[in-house]
Amino acid sequence: MFQKILIANRGEIALRVLRACKELGIQTVVVHSTADADAMHVRLADESVCIGPPPSRDSYLNIHQIVAACEITGADAVHPGYGFLSENAKFADILAAHNITFIGPSGDHIRIMGDKIEAKRTAKRLGIPVVPGSDGAVTEEKEAKRIAAEIGYPVIIKASAGGGGRGMKVAHSEADLEVALQTARSEAGAAFGDDAVYIEKYLEKPRHIEVQVFGDGAGRGVHFGERDCSLQRRHQKVWEEAPSPALNAEERARIGGTCAKAIADLGYSGAGTIEFLYENGEFYFIEMNTRLQVEHPVTEAITGIDLVHEQIRVASGGGLSVRQEDIKFNGHAIECRINAEDPRTFTPSPGTITHFHTPGGLGIRVDSGVYSGYKIPPYYDSLIGKLIVHGRNRVECMMRLRRALDEFVVDGIKTTLPLFRDLVGNADIANGDYDIHWLEKYLAKEE
Ligand code: ADP
Repeated sequence: MFQKILIANRGEIALRVLRACKELGIQTVVVHSTADADAMHVRLADESVCIGPPPSRDSYLNIHQIVAACEITGADAVHPGYGFLSENAKFADILAAHNITFIGPSGDHIRIMGDKIEAKRTAKRLGIPVVPGSDGAVTEEKEAKRIAAEIGYPVIIKASAGGGGRGMKVAHSEADLEVALQTARSEAGAAFGDDAVYIEKYLEKPRHIEVQVFGDGAGRGVHFGERDCSLQRRHQKVWEEAPSPALNAEERARIGGTCAKAIADLGYSGAGTIEFLYENGEFYFIEMNTRLQVEHPVTEAITGIDLVHEQIRVASGGGLSVRQEDIKFNGHAIECRINAEDPRTFTPSPGTITHFHTPGGLGIRVDSGVYSGYKIPPYYDSLIGKLIVHGRNRVECMMRLRRALDEFVVDGIKTTLPLFRDLVGNADIANGDYDIHWLEKYLAKEE
């Protein structure tokens, strides 16, 4: 087991990882920018190292500084959290070259899944269902037209190097295709320095359903069920739940089994999430994230298993603590992402939190790095906390969520809490009847 883990992140996830380390009796080092000297993860860690000025590229993304911090403190492993360097293959390789363990998969697996065309090819080879579309990159208009005619309109053109929903264009007919192809390519070139694009069938009313998987790096793979993250705004997840209100036990076991086997065959190590669009009973792979996800606590709530503990165990060579048959699903969990943003326009609202009071009671978990008097720096993501509620079934979970949202107090800044108070009373949400476009339509109506 590791003696000392360096946490290369900030905010709620740095604290989340720190808690797991403490439980396992592992010493903790955190790194921070000058803007985060007062952050909670810095206060609670055994050691901290200031690695640079506020901009992320000079601090949380500065590989040299982070490696230096490992050497100075004698950390033997790094947990990257999510975002920042968590899916940076070069970072994983550099750590390996310094004999420091990256708590995550190999650089090669990160690389494969970071290239969407390669990822899709790999998924298909491993028996994971994919969205019908081009086999690889498409450059010629003629070829694009042939493929689109074959799979049928509407189609979506996506950037191979894509991320954050950028570089995607929908074409509803052949007449739209030329412009869509050109726009997607130039957007992809400008955003990612790579104008490779590919074509897929555009699914009109899918849900976003993702499967939590784990590999032990030695040919064993398990799944921890799915999460439904269909409530999104601009491709950003807002509300996540497990299990999905749309799946039955048979569908869950089938897609979970397919994913677990794929992970085993790939020889993958650590936590991963295989993301699908789901429509009319069919799953369509869109991408795989090779890290811990923001929404991992809903899976922890229904399985009772600490996924960060598992990540640390696997990375240290101790293997998974559970076999597939040990993983049982219990009740229902919902996570609300609480952002320092205007609840309607979603413009960031940094500033000082004058009062912060979190709800409590049975089935309530709040993961947050903020406190009363904390000044939110304007440089980073606006997520200030996550409310995770568990109940024996979805109805109980929703009742408890409504009560917890009423108790939650964040004064001094704007937050997305009022949005969740509206959503929890909405009939479609109560019925679990929503797709990936539901939230945007709802917000447009409210304006
Ligand atoms: P990114 O990495 O940029 O987030 P993804 O491939 O994960 O790109 O897709 C992001 C979102 O775009 C999906 O959650 C979905 O809302 C939409 N999307 C992607 N592919 C399709 C498709 N074939 N049909 C319909 N919507 C899609």
